[in-house]
Amino acid sequence: MPETVVTRFAPSPTGFLHIGGARTALYNWLLARANNGKFLLRIEDTDRKRSTDEAIEAILNGMKWMGLDWDGDAISQFDRADRHREVAEAMLASGHAYKCFSSPEETAELRDAARAEGKPFRGDMWREKQDQAPADTPYSIRIKMPREGSHAIDDQVQGRVEVQNAELDDMIIMRSDGTPTYMLAVVVDDHDMGVTHVVRGDDHLNNAFRQIPIYKAMEWDIPTYAHIPLIHGPDGKKLSKRHGALGVEGYEEMGFLPEAMRNYLLRLGWSHGDEEIIPTAKAIEWFTLQNVGKSPSRFDFDKLDFVNSHYMKELNGSELLPYVQSDLEEQVGHTLDATEVERLIKALPSLAERAKRLPDLHEGASLFCNTRPLSLTDKAAKQLSGDTVPMLGSLTPVLEKVSQWNADDIKAAIVSFAEAEELKLGKVMQPVRAAVTGGKQSGDLAETLEILGQEETVARLRDVVAA
Ligand code: GLU
Repeated sequence: MPETVVTRFAPSPTGFLHIGGARTALYNWLLARANNGKFLLRIEDTDRKRSTDEAIEAILNGMKWMGLDWDGDAISQFDRADRHREVAEAMLASGHAYKCFSSPEETAELRDAARAEGKPFRGDMWREKQDQAPADTPYSIRIKMPREGSHAIDDQVQGRVEVQNAELDDMIIMRSDGTPTYMLAVVVDDHDMGVTHVVRGDDHLNNAFRQIPIYKAMEWDIPTYAHIPLIHGPDGKKLSKRHGALGVEGYEEMGFLPEAMRNYLLRLGWSHGDEEIIPTAKAIEWFTLQNVGKSPSRFDFDKLDFVNSHYMKELNGSELLPYVQSDLEEQVGHTLDATEVERLIKALPSLAERAKRLPDLHEGASLFCNTRPLSLTDKAAKQLSGDTVPMLGSLTPVLEKVSQWNADDIKAAIVSFAEAEELKLGKVMQPVRAAVTGGKQSGDLAETLEILGQEETVARLRDVVAA
């Protein structure tokens, strides 16, 4: 039976879930879901000074918002320190690691001296002196890196990458205070969690070569690696805040849909022919590591807007409403009642036709809320002066008499009124629009009036006539 694919996302909780991390999480999630495997979440919180509970919370919330569910409980790396120590001791016992009695200060001096001479620093001061171990002196544990030969990784994205073992230093796996180092913890956790595929940013490629000797020392299976290129800004430079290097909650606030984010981040570094719109179900069907591109991808808000507008159009009114309701209520200053909700469910899909992001719906949606008397924009106020007011005064009873309140009959009533009054249709429609919307962005007028309802339409016209 082929082995079950087990992937993981292993963020360090030192900040929010940024866009690069979200994409790494997505690729791991897709690889697991595409193969009926497991997707695990490990919080790499060993750096106690830099890890915060708020950051953990932000990462978990970001993952949930993105719709990236993980299997089992999120694992805390810090909680596993005893196990990490156990492996360091085992490597010491088997001769794959050794005790180093140099203090951190001494080590730093030697490192600086080597650097000044342009020589590599291997940290191997005690490698051949274990028989001279001083008594009662704290020690760190260093790995005994192989000096001969090389190791090659068949990286699923980068291809074959080879590193000479002689280039690797005898890194510390456990500090003299008994705390395991990151390099050790990652390997022990990945092994214990049964991780088969390590998919992460290519800034970790060098780490892979330092981590593999730990697997070899412990005679553990080495996972399949895929190091994905980082995300750059549209100008090809490192992604900065200005370019969109925000936490995913920033994208939620900007009004992007989770499905659009998944689609956009998937395409940002992965392709399936020329397909741009790839709903998650299709992505699960199609995802393979082989189609991850080798070169850094460029973040592009225009494209994200394009993808987002596509998914907004796919939603019906009831699906769109929860995304806008609370912002809308804040904007209009009251809780939406049943009539308003009903109107919005009808109105939102056509508003979504012209929107790129969720907040683009707010203005158009707000006119379906009961906020009489409407405050008018300057333009609307100008349109509602002079002759137009008595004209609306005559039109109002006509509209009041429309017996079937639907767009066609409303339109017919307005057309015949304009004809009878010998007015151009626009001369009637524009003031009606101004009176009923207050000058807000709106779609087809007759349709807007239908959704608003006869009573509210007439009341709004009366407000203007009576003003
Ligand atoms: N904790 C590391 C990071 O946030 C990831 C380590 C890994 O994926 O192996 O960059």
